[in-house]
Amino acid sequence: MPHLGNYTGAIRRWVELQNDFEAYVCVVDLHALTLPWKPSELRRQSLEACASFIACGLDPAKGVIFLQSQVPAHLELAWVLTCLARMGELRRMIQFKERSRGETESVGVGLFTYPVLQAADVLLYRAHGVPVGEDQRQHIELMRDLGGRFNAMFGETFVLPEPWIAPTGARIMALDDPTQKMSKSAGRPQSSILLVDEPSVITKKVRAAVTDSGRDVIAAPDKPAVTNLLTIFSVMEGSSLEDLQDRGWDGYGSFKSALADAIIEHLAPIRQRWMELMDDTAELERLLATGAEKAARTADATIADVRSRIGLLGAG
Ligand code: AMP
Repeated sequence: MPHLGNYTGAIRRWVELQNDFEAYVCVVDLHALTLPWKPSELRRQSLEACASFIACGLDPAKGVIFLQSQVPAHLELAWVLTCLARMGELRRMIQFKERSRGETESVGVGLFTYPVLQAADVLLYRAHGVPVGEDQRQHIELMRDLGGRFNAMFGETFVLPEPWIAPTGARIMALDDPTQKMSKSAGRPQSSILLVDEPSVITKKVRAAVTDSGRDVIAAPDKPAVTNLLTIFSVMEGSSLEDLQDRGWDGYGSFKSALADAIIEHLAPIRQRWMELMDDTAELERLLATGAEKAARTADATIADVRSRIGLLGAG
C-alpha cells in the first residue's frame, strides 16, 4: 500500500500529468519478488496498489494502468539490458547498498538487477519523462546509460528519459527518523502514513512524530523533522511553507493537530474511493487486463524492433 512519500513524490504528479501526456503507469508486481513474499499477499497487494492509483485520481480512460507481469516484453527487454549492464554500475546503486545492508553475498540477485528491469519498464514505452521521487534519480540515470549504450551499439532505438522530480515533496522523510526517507521496507508502521490509514491512526502517527529541539515551527536545515512535517502540510493543503510558518503556532502540539487534520481531509476521498474499488476486485482485474492489452501493443512493437536490431532470428 503506497504511503505519503509515494503520493507526494510520485502518484499525485502522475495524476497532474495525465492530462497533458500519454501516461503509462504500471503496478510493479515483479519488483515485489525481490524481497521475500507470500503469493496470496502479493495478489492482494497488486490489486490494492491498482485501486490506490485510481483512488488518487488516475483515470484508466486517459492513461494506461497495468500490471508489469502481464506484459512479458518487460522481462524480455530486461534480459537484453542485463547483458549490456555492468556489475560495477549496478553495485553503485544507492538503493542496492541500502537494501542489502552490506550483505552482498547472501542478498537476492533480483535486488541487484531490479534497476535493469526498471529500465526496461520505462524504455519499452519510449517515455520522455519519468515522474519520480528524489531517491530514483540514480536509477533514471542508469536507464539513460543503458538506453544510450544500446543506441550506440545497435542504432537509435530508445528515447533517453528525463527524471521529472517534484519541486516539493520529492523526498519525504520517516516520521520517526528525519534522517531516513519514508519507506515501505522500513518495517516500522509509525514511520509512515499509508494512504488508507484510518483518521485515528493518522492522528496517532502525527502526534508521535519526532520534532526538533525548540518550539518554533520553521523550515530550516537544523530542523529536519519540522521541515519534513511542514513539507507534508504544504502538499496536503496546497499552501506555501512561508504561509504555514506564519500562522502563529503555539508550539508543536497545535501544529501537529492541524497537520493531522489536513492529512485526514486530503486522504478522506482517496480512502473512500479505495474502499469502493476494493469491493469489486473483479472489475479491477478487468481494468488491469484492458490496460495490459494496450500496454502490450506499444511494448511489443518496441521489443520486435529490439529483436531485429540485435540479430535474433525470426525477428523480421
Ligand atoms: P517505491 O516505494 O520505491 O516503490 O517508489 C515508488 C515511487 O515513490 C518512486 O517514484 C519513488 O521515487 C517515490 N518515493 C518513494 N519513497 C518516497 C519518499 N519517501 N518521498 C518521496 N517520494 C518517494
